[in-house]
Amino acid sequence: MRALSIDLGGTHATCAVVEDRTIHTSQVVPTDGDRKLRELLPVLADTLRKLAADAGLGLGQIEGIAVGFCGLVDRKNARVTSTNLKYTDATEVDLKTWAAEEFGLPIAVENDARLALLGEWYAGSGTSSNDIVMMTLGTGIGGVAMIDGRLLVGKHFQAGCLGGHLAARFDGSPCNCGGIGCAESEASGWALPRICRGWPGFESSSLAGMELNFQNLFQTADDGDLVALAVREHCIRVWARTAASLIHAYDPELVLIGGGVMRRGDLIVPYIQQYVKEHTWTPWGTVQVRPAMLGDSAPLLGAVPLIELIKRSELDV
Ligand SMILES: [Zn+2]
Repeated sequence: MRALSIDLGGTHATCAVVEDRTIHTSQVVPTDGDRKLRELLPVLADTLRKLAADAGLGLGQIEGIAVGFCGLVDRKNARVTSTNLKYTDATEVDLKTWAAEEFGLPIAVENDARLALLGEWYAGSGTSSNDIVMMTLGTGIGGVAMIDGRLLVGKHFQAGCLGGHLAARFDGSPCNCGGIGCAESEASGWALPRICRGWPGFESSSLAGMELNFQNLFQTADDGDLVALAVREHCIRVWARTAASLIHAYDPELVLIGGGVMRRGDLIVPYIQQYVKEHTWTPWGTVQVRPAMLGDSAPLLGAVPLIELIKRSELDV
């Protein structure tokens, strides 16, 4: 199957032409999360048309469009239901009508983390299993669950994809979701500056003069800085605890871990694997922990299985 694919993130959108498990062509469009989705759609349409032409394809040879969106999505109706301050008009945009008018094609929309798991399941680290939990560690913490080959969706399209808001500490820091001590508020990119600045000894740490992001944290820890080592250990323990909670919630056989910090997967994956082995109740054996392998391509490669899924569910109706 050939499809057009859009991964709509907070700072950029990636457009692509995909055929089954291959990305033919792709292009990154810089965006700003404050920008309205309606203003961006004409740019996305032009980019997709150009990419299809570059791939030597007419629209008649393409079966559909898949969109991964950085918010909550009603997959059945191809509507964004909540945007968390990014593309604030997205809940009012009728993407089905846009796709029909611009391209004459059906469109499938899904939360970007769910789409990334579909991509890994179809073409990446998850091809061996139908029962997978995926955590994406970055500015936030994404969590997604697939059970028996089906993405968990739930009554309000939220099931499984708010794993970053599982509590790591009941007496922890306030989170942007309204919760307290969520994994995100204890160990995510947006919370990292506060965590570092509040750590005992921060003023005399090398971190004090740096931009506080995970890349600098890991590098500074490698250099032997005691505060950086302690904060890094804290974050990995929070991620490991979250993986264990997701395992208890969803009964997977595989946990995939993705996101920018996985450049240091050599450190993170063995730690989480050991933690999961020691701290989960799985009498049948041990859940395997693996790095996701597709990176930014994962949501783009989720296009074909998502479109197939939508087609099947429309047949069910
Ligand atoms: Zn939260």
